[in-house]
Amino acid sequence: MRIGHGYDVHRFGPGDALVLGGVRIPHERGLVAHSDGDVLIHAICDALLGALGQGDIGHHFPDTDPANAGIDSRLLLRRVMQLVQQAGWMLGNLDATIIAQAPRMAPHIASMREHLAADMAAAVTQVNVKATTTEKLGFTGRQEGIAVHAVVLLQTAGL
Ligand SMILES: [Zn+2]
Repeated sequence: MRIGHGYDVHRFGPGDALVLGGVRIPHERGLVAHSDGDVLIHAICDALLGALGQGDIGHHFPDTDPANAGIDSRLLLRRVMQLVQQAGWMLGNLDATIIAQAPRMAPHIASMREHLAADMAAAVTQVNVKATTTEKLGFTGRQEGIAVHAVVLLQTAGL
């Protein structure tokens, strides 16, 4: 087995929606990013790459590369999963925590899990997503941005 951890933050900026786990969530602001700003998927990609011992998402998909501008982060996740599979691993389970004061995540969690499971060639039961506020403390509490922690366990494919 291999374990990996990922952490990502994006700041709020102009916009009318954000994308988390491939789900478009209407909001009074969006997340600033070179890609679609899917901070949940970015943290998951970093956790997977960490478990593989293959660096991080910025190394594999540089934000200086025009090909990555505005890219759907689900494509990045699928590419990272190809690396996982090529190395002989599969997802054991994923646990992710979204840290945000707003918007409310609860109505969207089930859809996020479905998207992530599909992209990771896994069952929904292997993919947990939860959300917490920070009681209005810190940059997430002041609604300056959203942070995500993700932990993955990989297991040998075929077990
Ligand atoms: Zn990111």
